[in-house]
Amino acid sequence: MPQQLTDKIALITGATSGIGLGIARALAAEGCHIGVNGSRPDGEIAPLCGEIAGEFGVRCAPLSADMSDPQAVAAMVAEAERTLGPVDILINNAGIQHVAPIDSFPVEKWDQLIAINLSSVFHTSRAVLPGMKARGWGRIVNIASAHGLVASPFKSAYVAAKHGMVGFTKVTALESATDGITCNAICPGYVWTPLVEKQIPDQAKSHGMSEEEVIEQVILAPQPNRKFASVAEIGALAVFLCSEAGASITGASLPVDGGWTAR
Ligand code: NAD
Repeated sequence: MPQQLTDKIALITGATSGIGLGIARALAAEGCHIGVNGSRPDGEIAPLCGEIAGEFGVRCAPLSADMSDPQAVAAMVAEAERTLGPVDILINNAGIQHVAPIDSFPVEKWDQLIAINLSSVFHTSRAVLPGMKARGWGRIVNIASAHGLVASPFKSAYVAAKHGMVGFTKVTALESATDGITCNAICPGYVWTPLVEKQIPDQAKSHGMSEEEVIEQVILAPQPNRKFASVAEIGALAVFLCSEAGASITGASLPVDGGWTAR
């Protein structure tokens, strides 16, 4: 695998935290130059780019576009291509969660979640596909979820968006199959990231449990191996899918869920 990805340009949405950051680091370790999209609590993503560039000896561009805004997405891809070069690898990872029953799910939350978790994938993909086709090589990896394959109550927007992402992945794969491009979805179960960590105190309060009990009895209950996956595991799979060894894998939805969706 080493060398194959050297000097490829990888654009990763939601790369300032969790899984996206793990994938950014894994691709940078292979020699890819990285476009880091996302936000940070202090508003600054340039220092994170500096860290990645310094640690791995690659170029890194901060791209703070809001993935719920189609015009900002188009401008971000143009900015990535101006500062780094044509995008060879697109990782659609930005995502949010909101948990509520359908009949009290806030309409604006539904719209925001679908825009960030699903529609942005259309907007980034349509922007990079013509260039990938013209150059005869490309990799698109969509970070879906076990919730792209099965459902849980109270996560209607998230489950709809992730199922939609799995379907969109298949269409992208079919439309680009003869162009040297692959498109796949990674479907993680629970991965230990800030998105999961932040839910634990609230869940403990609403279930009347300790945080340890919530982890064991609520969060990891559907995951037969009873373990969180790590961001490094997801990063390693993304690198594999982007490598030449993954050239014939396209249109697939790959669970990384400790057996959750095998039930
Ligand atoms: P995280 O909260 O740690 O990171 C989310 C990233 O998305 C951050 O970089 C954030 O800045 C970015 N983001 C959010 N809204 C954005 C917006 N409007 N515009 C641009 N960027 C935005 O979460 P994570 O756990 O690393 O999740 C990353 C992806 O993996 C999500 O799509 C999530 O649904 C998916 N996923 C996570 C898990 C898990 O257990 N952590 C499991 C399955 C799937």
